[in-house]
Amino acid sequence: MRHRRRLSAAVAAAVITTTAVLSGCSDGSDSTEVMRPLVVTSTNVWGAVAQEIVGANGTVKALYISADGDPHDFTPSAVDSAAVADADIVLINGGHYDEYLAKAKKSPSASVIDAASLIGVGDGAHDEGHGDGGHDDDGHADHPRSSDGANEHVFYSLTAVRKTADALAVALARHSPAHAADYRRNAAAFGKQLDDLQGKLAGISARHRGAKVAQTEPLAGYLITAAGLVDASPPGFTAAVENGQSPSAADRAKLEDLLTSHTAKALLYNAQAVNPVTTAVADTARRAGVPVVTLTESLPVGVTTYAQWQGAQIDALARALGS
Ligand SMILES: [Zn+2]
Repeated sequence: MRHRRRLSAAVAAAVITTTAVLSGCSDGSDSTEVMRPLVVTSTNVWGAVAQEIVGANGTVKALYISADGDPHDFTPSAVDSAAVADADIVLINGGHYDEYLAKAKKSPSASVIDAASLIGVGDGAHDEGHGDGGHDDDGHADHPRSSDGANEHVFYSLTAVRKTADALAVALARHSPAHAADYRRNAAAFGKQLDDLQGKLAGISARHRGAKVAQTEPLAGYLITAAGLVDASPPGFTAAVENGQSPSAADRAKLEDLLTSHTAKALLYNAQAVNPVTTAVADTARRAGVPVVTLTESLPVGVTTYAQWQGAQIDALARALGS
């Protein structure tokens, strides 16, 4: 019980409300007025998370809805920016993943939830990142990494997703108190789906704890750790791909070594951060008989829920490892 209360307090603290959101309700018939909050977020993965909590009582708009392409490179349109300005709740991945959303003009009454900050990633990025947008020491102004070097793909962290869902329920209740119980119930139901995903990861961990895998981008880092696996990829390789650059010949050789020697039991392949080197490395894996698990940064066509998406990916990883 104590544990739960402490968690809720942390979640509530993470919801930054810039002004009193209920100021409009003081002039009378607040009990009959039913608000339908608008939640705007970056990718449709976060959109799917938000939809679970919003349910029928509100609207969710994700800006990046393509199953292809690289969400790191997304630039919002004027229509997108207008939607952000209208939003009651802006759900940001954070850690520089969707910096455009962190910087976008928002309503003074909007609540902002930064998922990465809920697990301590990218903290302080907003204070230091001001000025002329992400010019890192390593000079990749176009594809800034999280300033502290932490992995910003927090939508692969079930802990971050759970905390974000709980924070959303709190924020939604502030904007539409009449539906507070619905949002809480939705968050609890979504929490059960996350429990199931956690169970799948525990199953992998039970059979394959300590097994080495490789990946082409840092995408699945949190998932790999939660599954008890070890990411053996050369950091220089994954960092280059993440930054939209071609990995060095030395890093490529290191990664291919892991595959041909069967040190890595699977290659986790980000289908949305592809270049000739990642394609060649995937071919090397297949030739060596190392299973290639394809992962994505946004929802594939026909997939609408977070659990469906991540569940299929975790199942594919389990199959690749031979469980
Ligand atoms: Zn990425």
